[in-house]
Amino acid sequence: MESATMSFPISKTYFLAGLHCPKRLWLSICRPEDASPMSLAAEQRIKQGKAIGVAARESFKNGILVDGNLKHCLEKSWELTVVGAGQGVECLFEPAFLYDDILVRCDVLRRLPSGNWEIIEVKSATKLKDEHIADLTLQHYVLEGLGLTVEKTSLMVVNPMARNWSVVQDRFCYQDVTAAVVRWRGQLPQKLAEFRTLLTEPTAPQVPIGSHCDRPYRCPFKDHCWQNVPPISIFDIPLLKQDKLQNLMNSNIWNLEDIPAEFPLTQKQRTFIDRMTAAKPQIDQDLLRQLLGQIQPNQPLYFFDVETHSSAIPRFAGLHPYERCIFQYSCHRLNPDGSLEHFEYLHTEDSDPRLPLLISLIHHIGDRGSVVVYNQSFEKGVLQQLAAAYPNYGAKINQIIDRLWDLQVIFKRAYFHPGFRGSYSLKKVLPVMAPQFCHDDLVIKSGNEAPLVWEALLECSAPDKRAEMAQQLREYCGLDTLGMVKIYEVLQQELKD
Ligand code: SF4
Repeated sequence: MESATMSFPISKTYFLAGLHCPKRLWLSICRPEDASPMSLAAEQRIKQGKAIGVAARESFKNGILVDGNLKHCLEKSWELTVVGAGQGVECLFEPAFLYDDILVRCDVLRRLPSGNWEIIEVKSATKLKDEHIADLTLQHYVLEGLGLTVEKTSLMVVNPMARNWSVVQDRFCYQDVTAAVVRWRGQLPQKLAEFRTLLTEPTAPQVPIGSHCDRPYRCPFKDHCWQNVPPISIFDIPLLKQDKLQNLMNSNIWNLEDIPAEFPLTQKQRTFIDRMTAAKPQIDQDLLRQLLGQIQPNQPLYFFDVETHSSAIPRFAGLHPYERCIFQYSCHRLNPDGSLEHFEYLHTEDSDPRLPLLISLIHHIGDRGSVVVYNQSFEKGVLQQLAAAYPNYGAKINQIIDRLWDLQVIFKRAYFHPGFRGSYSLKKVLPVMAPQFCHDDLVIKSGNEAPLVWEALLECSAPDKRAEMAQQLREYCGLDTLGMVKIYEVLQQELKD
């Protein structure tokens, strides 16, 4: 491994990486090629962050965007800050500053009546997070280092209750976080010194893997650091405390089978290990029969799944930021005579999908028979939001809610298979229960991808490409409900055998 050279500045991205994990900082600079490719969801977060930054600028009067390449931006930022301020420029958007080999860009830099400055950070989040304070503290350090007097540091986060995005003053919640930044500011020089020392080391620091690798986001180096961890490992044991995990790691124990019998674990954790290491599935037949018995007899059975989209900037009027907007459903109807029918709805126009989808749904799902879903809280929440948005249909929607039956409960309580790898998700259960119906061959493989494809479909004008994406969405959602039918059939067979 090469050692790092500090011939280029620390950006706030690197600084925040270092606060997350020192090894992540070292890898980011010395071995960036070890990072996994950026996920679609991460790309989407970046795109959304940029859009929110643009939307926030409309909250300020008399502002100038400092744009262009970095060198130009640095010169221009400085010129506008020190000279332009005297010429009536009140706000600068995206100015860049370099001090002590640290490069920062402020979302907004505002001149206060006192002649001093306010740094405003704009986030697509809806709540203040620790990392926001660290981010602002670094900007504060750089600007003060350059001789500007920063009187105030503030945060603008998306207002989750904003009902009408066109009302600019309702879009964001503004918070003065100066006191928190001043408190943090004292630790900063030492942190920077630690990071600089770390980056002169020829090898990455020894940092044990753990839950921090997924919090607050999945680390881009997780595949690299976790490459020797087996697919089912000590990290899957529910509620295992960090000190116990550390003990096992120190003893080079990663597989569940290798945990000594005397290792202190709770009964629940032991049960989990027994289930995961058993050669065969463990099925509680009585409970399985009881749970399946909750399904309405002699009625059609509806297997139902929805896809939703949400974004910081609501796509349609009447939605608030991050409110889920249903755009697709699939419904397989298993009739009492054993015949199977498929109904679906996919909204392909760039208009609010909710009402036409709702009308179609009420038509397809009838008024009798259990509605089988996988993870009921999600579908229930989406239906409740629809009922709130369209009260005229509230009674019909509530009737559907009352008919929901959650297939996932079977796999939480009555049916355990080591092949599920300790998960209850449909994507883990389906390939074990009905291997010919798994998502591996589809273009869309997860629920996170569906809204991104839908967004791309709405923004695409090429008919062929649009048809292709619509087909991908139909295949994905359709397989979820067909997969549930197949799982149900396997469970019924289990009771007969
Ligand atoms: S995967 Fe974990 S240990 Fe490795 S760099 Fe990321 S946060 Fe650090």
